[in-house]
Amino acid sequence: MIESQDYVLISALQHYAFCPRQCALIHIEQVWEENLYTLRGQRVHEKVNVPEHELIQGIRVERAMPLWSHKLGLTGIADVVEFLANDTPYPVEYKAGSKKAREADDIQLCAQALCLEEMLDRPVSRGAIFHYASRRRREVVFDEAVRSRVLETIDDLRGLLAQTTLPPPVTDNRCRNCSLVEACMPHTLNDFHKIVRRNNPFTVLNSFE
Ligand code: SF4
Repeated sequence: MIESQDYVLISALQHYAFCPRQCALIHIEQVWEENLYTLRGQRVHEKVNVPEHELIQGIRVERAMPLWSHKLGLTGIADVVEFLANDTPYPVEYKAGSKKAREADDIQLCAQALCLEEMLDRPVSRGAIFHYASRRRREVVFDEAVRSRVLETIDDLRGLLAQTTLPPPVTDNRCRNCSLVEACMPHTLNDFHKIVRRNNPFTVLNSFE
């Protein structure tokens, strides 16, 4: 039995899978900054952040549906869950960007599927990422590989939330569009580490804080 204070947010899994340092800044340090990309994301989610349901061509569509898994200690909200003809749930996660594969998005969507399986006691084998910029869906199959990645990410996220130090910056293409780049200072920290190592190669730095 997982204690209620140990439940983790499904959205935090996405943040962790994208960049552990970003996840720690948001969920431990409570840092949040807006940029063009986060504002676009907010605008897209305005279409699905009010709980409501409707019938579209015989398919029941639930928006802003609360999710949980007592087995995994997860909680969150699905942008959209469609109930197909045989009442099989099909989660759809809205993303502001164009159509491209992202493991972090797949982990978030599969975590939603695991919640739906537990809540509704029926298998959920696939769902989709809806890329608002291209207005196209990318279907995700919830195979054993992505299910295992969700479980690993939950464990890793719990480990991160129990820590008091920030993970090191990834300092790669992910930083280019990250709204937290000023709070994170990935390049400054990397330069600092290089200087410290150059001056004293035996120095061990445990934290990038
Ligand atoms: S700037 Fe880079 S390292 Fe820092 S939080 Fe964003 S993605 Fe992660």
